[in-house]
Amino acid sequence: MSGGHCDAVIVGGGFYGCSIASYLGSRMKSVMLVEQESELFRHASYTNQARIHGGYHYPRSLHTAYRSRVNFHSFVKDYPECVADNFTAIYCVARQNSKVSPRQFERFCNVIGAPWKPARADAVKLFNPALIEAVYEVTEFAFNSDILRDCMRRKLDSAGVGVRLGTRVERVEAARAGSGAGSRVYLSDGSEIEARYVLNCTYAGLKRIAGLSEHCRTTVKLEITEMALIEPPPELRDLGITVMCGPFFSTMPFPPRSLHTLSHVRYTPHCSWVDSGPDSPDPYAAMRAYQRESRSYHMLKDAQRYLPALGRAKIVDSIFEMKTLLMRNEIDDGWPILMERSESAEGIYSIMGGKIDNIYDVIERLGAEGL
Ligand SMILES: Cc1cc2nc3c(=O)[nH]c(=O)nc-3n(C[C@H](O)[C@H](O)[C@H](O)COP(=O)(O)OP(=O)(O)OC[C@H]3O[C@@H](n4cnc5c(N)ncnc54)[C@H](O)[C@@H]3O)c2cc1C
Repeated sequence: MSGGHCDAVIVGGGFYGCSIASYLGSRMKSVMLVEQESELFRHASYTNQARIHGGYHYPRSLHTAYRSRVNFHSFVKDYPECVADNFTAIYCVARQNSKVSPRQFERFCNVIGAPWKPARADAVKLFNPALIEAVYEVTEFAFNSDILRDCMRRKLDSAGVGVRLGTRVERVEAARAGSGAGSRVYLSDGSEIEARYVLNCTYAGLKRIAGLSEHCRTTVKLEITEMALIEPPPELRDLGITVMCGPFFSTMPFPPRSLHTLSHVRYTPHCSWVDSGPDSPDPYAAMRAYQRESRSYHMLKDAQRYLPALGRAKIVDSIFEMKTLLMRNEIDDGWPILMERSESAEGIYSIMGGKIDNIYDVIERLGAEGL
């Protein structure tokens, strides 16, 4: 069955695909978004820690931290209905094994313009002073991914973007660079679309689409991750806590389920591999087949050494998701954005943002490309 023609096809209906499709929809005549699941935001854009990064997390990469700080304000301004600011964000520095000292953390926050102050005594006394050296109150929020998905639906509608749910992009026949021709996109329902631009926004699926993924030359690592969902005791309910900067933990409100996530640098990643395309395990099949043996007990056990009140938290559930990481960020947390235009094919882009707020840098780059 033969289909139509579009200016752009966006593959992937997470936050990135939706944002880019609505951006292009307001600049081009016909834009189509294709998502394999029956609904938008079924993968990483729902299952994540919900942190609107304010820069604090990246003391080892000033550039990433600074861009986060700038983008934090943009996100809060653009999506006010999704912002959960009804808790106090606490960052603390561990006494041992921390890659940052309290003095360095304070200086770094000052440099990127991220507000901080010593935490109030009632917050400080929650921590074990033998393991925690300094406790700060900072300005950072969470987002509600259910509400964000609804916002994106409205944006797609008002930009006139066509949305095909429950439809997989099976393969792409990319037009040669300089040919001026469109690429052919083959869908799982048997239809085809010819498009001048094809943007691969599939995150964990970046290397999976025949004829498209070959144009993404950047090396990515896939990681099966687990975050515990906990019911914190009353004294932690209004706090989001992050221990810096090493093999520690973080517990944050998870607005869609009115619980807290608990993630731990040591236990959250279950296993990982470098995705070299068809020769490596398919991320979606791997997730489906994965025996989800929870490590939430270990997360909680270790975290309560630092924050004893967690001993009274109740483990409710665990959420698993495939995380996609750029290999070049393994050492220093630097610039977690992939934005690659194919040199050999016409109008083919591979795009991935390591966190939600990076979308602003991606859109700016698309603008610079003339899109
Ligand atoms: C455990 C974890 C914690 C995180 N915590 C945070 C955090 O606190 N703050 C933050 O800012 N970021 C966080 N992130 C990162 C954030 O979730 C991602 O940067 C963001 O969700 C990526 O959005 P996306 O649209 O690229 O990916 P996704 O939401 O995964 O969307 C990709 C979509 O592509 C679809 N797709 C794949 N292949 C095809 C195909 N062939 N045809 C059609 N559709 C296809 C998939 O079904 C999926 O819906 C976290 C990520 C993880 C995994």
